[in-house]
Amino acid sequence: MSDDASELPLPLYDISAAREDHQREYMEQLTADGICIFCPESVESHHREPIDWTGEYWYVTKNDYPYAGTVAHYLIVPHRHVTSFDELPDEAGAELWAIKRMLKAQLAPLATATVERSGDMHFNGGSVAHLHTHFVALPAEPEKTVRFKVSALAPSG
Ligand SMILES: [Zn+2]
Repeated sequence: MSDDASELPLPLYDISAAREDHQREYMEQLTADGICIFCPESVESHHREPIDWTGEYWYVTKNDYPYAGTVAHYLIVPHRHVTSFDELPDEAGAELWAIKRMLKAQLAPLATATVERSGDMHFNGGSVAHLHTHFVALPAEPEKTVRFKVSALAPSG
C-alpha cells in the first residue's frame, strides 16, 4: 500500500452498500474524483465530523451516517489506506485496544459494541474500502435494534 492517493487501489466504495440517497450520490462523486474519504489528506475536507483524537496508527471521528438506535457512533480509522486489520503491525492493535478503552470510559455506563469488516468490501458488507472500526454506544432502552450488515447481500436480499 502507498500513501500516494494517485496509487490507491480501486474500487474505493461499494455504492450498493449506501444506506441513504445523499450518501450514494456523495460516494459516486468521490469515486469520480478518486478521493478516499478516510485517507488523512482527504478526511478533514471531505468527512463532516471533526477528528476527535489522533495517534500513531489511528484517528477517531464520529460517523457522518450514525446507525439508527445508537447513542454515539465513532469510527476508529488507520492513517494508512489498508483494507484488512492484518496489514497493520501488532502495535496498531495495541493502540486500537487503548482507543476502545478510552471511548468506553467516555461513554460509561453505556454498553458498547465494535464491528470491524476486513477484506473485500463486496463480500464483507462495507461501503468504504479503507479499513475502519465502528464503535457504538447503546442505550439501555433502545427505540430499535442496532444492526450491522457484515456480508454480501444474499440473492433474496
Ligand atoms: Zn484511504
